[in-house]
Amino acid sequence: MLNFFPNPYPDEDFRSIVYRFSKLSANTDKKSVMYELFQAKTVRNKLILPRNILNLLNKIPGQHTYSLKRMIKEHSYLPLMKPFYTLTEYNRIVEDIGQTTGAIVVGTNRLRHMISNQVRYCPLCLLEDYQTIGETYVHRIHQIKFVQVCPYHHVYLISSCRECQRSFSYDKELLGTPFCSNQHYLPSYAKQINHVETNETLLYKVATNTNFLLQNEKDIGIELLRENYRDHALKQGYFSPNGLTRKNTNFIRDFLVYFPIGHLEALGINLNQINRKFAQIYFNLQGNHYNVLFHILIMNYFSGSVNNFLNQIIPNTEPFIPFGCGPWECLNELCTEFNQPSIKLCNRYSYKEVIYGTFRCEKCGYTYTKKCNRETLQTVEKIYVRDKGWVWNKKEFEIHNLYAMKIQQTQRFNKRQRTIVEKMHIPKKHSFAWTKLLLQVYLTVKSYKETARILGTTEITVKKILTKNQMKIS
Ligand SMILES: [Zn+2]
Ligand SMILES: [Zn+2]
Ligand SMILES: [Zn+2]
Repeated sequence: MLNFFPNPYPDEDFRSIVYRFSKLSANTDKKSVMYELFQAKTVRNKLILPRNILNLLNKIPGQHTYSLKRMIKEHSYLPLMKPFYTLTEYNRIVEDIGQTTGAIVVGTNRLRHMISNQVRYCPLCLLEDYQTIGETYVHRIHQIKFVQVCPYHHVYLISSCRECQRSFSYDKELLGTPFCSNQHYLPSYAKQINHVETNETLLYKVATNTNFLLQNEKDIGIELLRENYRDHALKQGYFSPNGLTRKNTNFIRDFLVYFPIGHLEALGINLNQINRKFAQIYFNLQGNHYNVLFHILIMNYFSGSVNNFLNQIIPNTEPFIPFGCGPWECLNELCTEFNQPSIKLCNRYSYKEVIYGTFRCEKCGYTYTKKCNRETLQTVEKIYVRDKGWVWNKKEFEIHNLYAMKIQQTQRFNKRQRTIVEKMHIPKKHSFAWTKLLLQVYLTVKSYKETARILGTTEITVKKILTKNQMKIS
C-alpha cells in the first residue's frame, strides 16, 4: 500500500503524475518508483501507454477518483488510437492495460511516433496553472507532435527555453513553476498565432480537433469511421455505387486544393504519404492507415471539423446508391406485405451500362428485377417478375383446381370457334384477378387463341398459365 498518490490534474500526462509522485515521496530513483507502482521494470518513457495500472490502483490508499477507464481516457494516449479499433478490440486493450497478460500487442510504436520526445509546454498554461493550483504540470494535448499550438491560448508551444536554449525533457526535472532552470520567465515567450495566415489557422484547427478527439465522450470506433467515410466518399463520387474506391487521383487533387502543400509541410507531413492508394487506405482503413493527423485532415476536408464529421447527421447518400437504401415494396397483391416496404435486401449486379437490382419478398417469395442506368442511376419504370412466389402459386393452383375437370374436358375438344364475348371489364394484366378471368374465359371460348385475344395477351402466355397447374393436378 502506498502512503499517498497525487490527484491528477485535468488532461495531465500520466508521466507527469508519476513524476509528481516520485518528487513528493522523495524517491528519485526512477526504476524503484516504477517497480513500486507497477511491479514492472520499465522506464518512464514507456508510460505513453502505461501497463499494469490495476497494480497501482489497488495500492492507492483511502477513497480516490481513479479508475482504470478514467486513467486511460484522461491521462494516457490510447484514446488517439481508438478510431482504429472496433469497440470490442478497444475494450480488450483497456483490460490488458489494467493487468498485462502479454497476450495483446497494442500499437505502442504507432503511438510513439505521434508523441513528442521532448516535453512541451504552453507558456500561458504554465502561468495559468501556477496561478490557480500553485504548480505546473505536463498537459497531454501539448505532447502530440502535430499539435504545435495551445488550443486554449492560441500560442505556440515551447520545448526549450527561448533564452538559454535549455530543452525540457523527461530525463531532467519537469517544470514545477513557470520558470526554466535558469530562472527565465517562460510566459514572456508566448507567441500568438496569426489567425490571418491560413497556415497558422490550420495549425490551430488541428490542435482543437485533436483535443476534441482526445476529450470526446462518444465511442469512436473503426466501424463508425468507416461508415462515415463511405457515405461522404459516395456523395462526392470517390466511391462507385458498388462500393469500390475510384477516382483516387480526383480525391488527391481536391485534397491538395483544400490543403495547400506548404500548409501540410508545416504540419510535418511528408508528401510521399499521399500516394496512389491514399483514398483506398484511409477511406477503408486498410493497410497502413494509422496516421491520426491524416484522418483529422480528411474529416476536415469532408465536414469542416472532426466534431461535424462525427456528429453531423449523415448526409443523404440515397441518391448515390442504385435503387436507394431500401427497404423496398413487395409487389405481390396477394401478399400481406403488398405495397409495404418489407424487402430489406437488394442484390445488385451490373452488366455493361446497366445495373440490375433483384428484390425478393421473404414473406411470399415474389421476386422481381429492376434496371437502372449505371451513370445517371436513373431507374427504369418497368419491372421483370422472376418468380411469383409460393403464396401466388398456391392460390393460383387452388383456382385452377376448381376448374380442373372442365379445363381437361375442354382441351379434348379445343375447338377454335370464335365467340362473341360481351364487353367486359378486364383487370390489370397479370394481376391475380386477370389470371382468374383467363381461366373462366378459356372455359367459355375453349380456345387459346380466343382467350389470348380477349385478354390482350399471347397464346403462349395463355397456354403457359393453363398447363402450369394442370401438371400438378394430373
Ligand atoms: Zn495554453
Ligand atoms: Zn532559460
Ligand atoms: Zn410479399
